[in-house]
Amino acid sequence: MIVSDCLFCKIISKEIKSDIIYEDDSLLAIKDINPAAPVHLLIIPKIHVASLNEVAIGDVEILGHIQLLASRLAEESGVSERGYRLVNNCGEWGGQSVFHLHYHLLGGKQMGWPPE
Ligand code: 5GP
Ligand code: ZN
Repeated sequence: MIVSDCLFCKIISKEIKSDIIYEDDSLLAIKDINPAAPVHLLIIPKIHVASLNEVAIGDVEILGHIQLLASRLAEESGVSERGYRLVNNCGEWGGQSVFHLHYHLLGGKQMGWPPE
C-alpha cells in the first residue's frame, strides 16, 4: 500500500529521487540524504508500516529479511569487519522523524554508547 503523504512511499514509488543501493520486491536501501556517518544507509520495507509499534506477526519475514540485508550491505560497504550499527528510531522520544518503518545502517567511524 502506498500512502500518498508519506515521504518514503514517494521514494519507493520513485516519485522522489534517491540514491538507491539495493532493491527487491519487498525492500529498498538508499543513502541517507543527511549522513551521520561515512556509511549511512536506510533500509526501508516497501509496505507502509508507520513504526515498529505497528508491526505484527505477519511482518516477521520482512523483519528477518531486513536483518539479513543489513549484514550483506555492511559487508558490501566495507564496514563489517570494524563494526557498525543498525538502528530503528521509534516514535517521538526515539527520535523518529519519518513515520514509515526504516532502519539506519551506520558505519565507518567509532560510535559512542549510550546515546545521549
Ligand atoms: P528517522 O529520524 O525517522 O529515524 O530517520 C529519517 C532519516 O531520513 C533521516 O536520517 C533523514 O536524514 C533521512 N531523510 C529525510 N528525508 C530524506 C530524503 O528525501 N531522502 C533521503 N535519502 N533521506 C532522507
Ligand atoms: Zn510510507
